[in-house]
Amino acid sequence: MSEKQKPAEQVAATNFIKQIIEADLAAGKNNGRVKTRFPPEPNGYLHIGHAKSICLNFGLAREFGGICHLRYDDTDPAKESTEYVESIQEDVRWLGFDWQGKLFYASDYFEQLYAYAEQLIKAGKAYVDSLSAEEIREFRGTLTEPGTNSPYRERSVAENLDLFQRMRAGEFEEGRHVLRAKIDMSAANIVLRDPTLYRIKKMPHYRRGTEWQIYPMYDFTHCLSDAIEGITHSICTLEFEINRALYDWVLDNLPVPCHPQQIEFARLNLSYTVLSKRKLIELVDGGYVSGWDDPRLPTISGMRRRGYPPEAIRNFCERIGVAKADSMVDFALLEFCVRETLNKSAPRVMGILRPLKVIIENYPPDQVEELEAINNPEDPEAGIRKVPFAREIYIERDDFMEAPPKKFFRLAPGREVRLRYAYFITCTGVVKDPNTGEVVELRCTYDPATRGGDAPDGRKVKGTLHWVSKPHAVEAEVRLYNHLFTAENPAEAGAGNSFLETLNPDSQQVLKGCRLEPGLAGAKPGERFQFERLGYFCVDSGNGSAGRPVFNRIVTLRDTWAKILKKTENN
Ligand code: ATP
Ligand code: MG
Repeated sequence: MSEKQKPAEQVAATNFIKQIIEADLAAGKNNGRVKTRFPPEPNGYLHIGHAKSICLNFGLAREFGGICHLRYDDTDPAKESTEYVESIQEDVRWLGFDWQGKLFYASDYFEQLYAYAEQLIKAGKAYVDSLSAEEIREFRGTLTEPGTNSPYRERSVAENLDLFQRMRAGEFEEGRHVLRAKIDMSAANIVLRDPTLYRIKKMPHYRRGTEWQIYPMYDFTHCLSDAIEGITHSICTLEFEINRALYDWVLDNLPVPCHPQQIEFARLNLSYTVLSKRKLIELVDGGYVSGWDDPRLPTISGMRRRGYPPEAIRNFCERIGVAKADSMVDFALLEFCVRETLNKSAPRVMGILRPLKVIIENYPPDQVEELEAINNPEDPEAGIRKVPFAREIYIERDDFMEAPPKKFFRLAPGREVRLRYAYFITCTGVVKDPNTGEVVELRCTYDPATRGGDAPDGRKVKGTLHWVSKPHAVEAEVRLYNHLFTAENPAEAGAGNSFLETLNPDSQQVLKGCRLEPGLAGAKPGERFQFERLGYFCVDSGNGSAGRPVFNRIVTLRDTWAKILKKTENN
């Protein structure tokens, strides 16, 4: 992290979770310790919603001199894998956080969880139920009607123990029995109506192999894992609010070493994208994107490949804050944070996305000049570089119009503009393809007295264009990205899988034959630049080769968020 980004991050605002922790510390609770955890299930790659949780959990630990565990909540053998485990560690580290060796797996607690389950059975607080899944659902009741006790609810402790042990031994098929907590089938909170604690699953686990035939449920595993690890504050998203009663019930009914406090906060929702692993998996498996690190995805690996700096993501998470009510955050705010970071750190360069050849007719044919260009006006220490100028150059096709409308201040026949860091040029001729009528080349003259970009006679020009020398230019492929979805809230655009119907057909545009200033030939994967007047770009890590890079557009220069802010301030 560069020194420059630090101040913004240190102005950490308070939030209701910090206030709870401060009060706990003041009251001497947990012996003054703060221990949080980030508990992903390794069933997909992390996304920006997880980044919010990571920043929160690791951030709190850092702020209060505590520690944050990384714990895999890996109790569902159907969807978990080592690939996901590894990607999660890479992403957390890349975001700038460190679990200081405290890496845990719920699957390492299986034996202990099993022992706890037997303890509940022995205490008459859990029983083996042999209703089918459908019957269990029917017996559960509804929000307005109480549930009905299962006919198996009064099995003896001995019978329950025997059945549970045989479940573990693999004697029964999936669905034959489950272990349920014996709480209250008429509880107002449906979660407390004898929740399932274990189910039979005949499926190898990516870490435990075929050792286990039964797997503990989330609600049983999570609270006990927290207690085993001595977590003080177990922070999760709002949808677990109703599960808190069960979290507490399990811990209250077992001799656990401590009783962590569950605190819920609002999950991040971001416009024009989806933040659900199930939906992201559909996009990846369905081939709608190139993989988990497709630069259009809101995954951390996708954002890394796109070129988002980790400090920008941290600043974003700080800025959106931590609330108790769900809301939708504008994607433009994320882009604003990315621009803010890159504006300070990204070197400026010139690159032409859609080249139009210009011949400067009065420039000596064999002459090449090395002109001085400023690397970053926001950072004087970034210094200057030399860019070659020659008789033949490229400019951006959009920067020329044969019949310009009012307010088009760039190049047009007979008009004079400035070439950045170079000379004034005047358009004297237009060469067209005789068949298509397309403009293929411009003829210009330059004024040698304007070297560096100013006229000694004080004459002004309205437009300044970027350019590259044709004989020196590096050829590159550039990929432009737009929102992956056309709907602001694709998840709610319709029922079922219809979020796929709002996929943006123009979310990626591949430009070949772009021309960049020669210094970019050696740019390395992950390096970020501002292409002057165009946006911020990052060398792709999956494509391209030495001397022929592929660039991803990280974000455009235009700042829609600033406009939105201005509008709301003026209202
Ligand atoms: P998804 O809803 O994408 O499938 P998940 O909640 O099932 O995600 P987990 O691996 O269980 O994924 O998440 C790990 C942690 O990240 C949990 O504590 C979860 O609450 C948190 N988290 C997941 N999504 C978000 C989000 N959008 N905003 C904030 N925190 C999130
Ligand atoms: Mg989850």
